[in-house]
Amino acid sequence: MSNCVTELVCIHCQAKLTSDSEVDQPWLTCGLCGPADGIYDIGYDLDAVQRSWDESPLASRPLNHWRYHELLPLESASIPHHWSVGWTPLVETQRLASQLNLERLWLKDEGRNPTASFKDRASSVGVAHAREVGATTIACASTGNAATSLAGHAALAGMPAVIFVPATAPEPKLAQLLVFGATVIAVEGSYDQAYNLCSSACERFGWYNRNCAINPVLVEGKKTGGLEIAEQMAAIGSQPDWIAVSVGDGCTIAGIWKGLVQMHALKIIDRLPKLLSVQAQDVAPVHHAMEQNRLPDCSGGNTLADSINVAVPRNWRKAVAAIRESHGVGVEVSDEEILDAMRTAGRHGVFAEPAAAAALAGVVSAVSQGIIAPRSHVLAMITGSGLKDTNSAMQAGGRLLRTEPDMGKLETILM
Ligand SMILES: *Cc1c(COP(=O)(O)O)cnc(C)c1O
Repeated sequence: MSNCVTELVCIHCQAKLTSDSEVDQPWLTCGLCGPADGIYDIGYDLDAVQRSWDESPLASRPLNHWRYHELLPLESASIPHHWSVGWTPLVETQRLASQLNLERLWLKDEGRNPTASFKDRASSVGVAHAREVGATTIACASTGNAATSLAGHAALAGMPAVIFVPATAPEPKLAQLLVFGATVIAVEGSYDQAYNLCSSACERFGWYNRNCAINPVLVEGKKTGGLEIAEQMAAIGSQPDWIAVSVGDGCTIAGIWKGLVQMHALKIIDRLPKLLSVQAQDVAPVHHAMEQNRLPDCSGGNTLADSINVAVPRNWRKAVAAIRESHGVGVEVSDEEILDAMRTAGRHGVFAEPAAAAALAGVVSAVSQGIIAPRSHVLAMITGSGLKDTNSAMQAGGRLLRTEPDMGKLETILM
């Protein structure tokens, strides 16, 4: 653990672990609340972080997410500086902003991470931590991207990875897994069933459990998305009024919020944005929980945005707390709106998978509902690349023009 880590706090009952030997076991869940509710959150000594940043300013550091190493739960000797993760570009889309009557609109293109999704932020930290604690095998259950990023980083570390995915995951994601050399277990069932099987297997076989929901180390990796937004936006002299994030388990939005709050406490930014939480129309249990303080009893539904097709979100408490704290709002988008947004993002130079385009679809919807005011500054997290799901991309893309290799024929179809 970093020497700036001070405690693990149960997000349910607030009980704390503070001794060195205790905070070194973050895969534990709170003994009082049990593994379903008693997820820990990692606390830091921000004064110590500040002192370290005074000595070695952020501006002088390499452009990847290890630049925030004091805010990660890793010993300095465990930081794999050569794994290049993060520092993804903010793509400003002026034409789209003016169409939506926004002052400025940025798409943060997380598809440029090493395995092409935001999940690389979490998996890189998870694998580095697993190595630090001497784990020999690392496992996770995933809708796809967490798995491929885990497999990619495990391959970098030379550590075996066991992956549980729903058998319905898009083929490009499965292909990545297999090429990275992971043991891939396609579970004939939902993501939730794959998740439960993975958790039991980790207990049974003593594997390191990368599942974000119970392992707070992973959320710290996702946090770097928020740290980075704050630093990059401060550098261009603006701060977004809204940040749109698509929500499945809820770890991404909670992690981004934690990063923003830390950067606010460290005075890198002077105000905090509101979070626009975006879920699929038929799969929106986190939004249900925002109103009811609990998950819906049963939720059916489906969406083509496989990465957020999560009926039983494991981290809904952290997500709901983050959205509320930011005075944020939840919006739901249909598959058709998602495909539209894939096309729109593409027409502005950003290739998004469905769950990533959902964030932009949420912005479009929130603007038309008046939730986002005219002239606002808005940032949408584009959490994964369109190459992750080429079937949906073909559906969104448009029409192919076919011709025989003949100029006359070409002229006819171009008319
Ligand atoms: C995982 C994922 C999300 C949602 O993150 P959660 O932590 O599950 O809420 C959104 N978009 C993409 C592309 C993802 O892979």
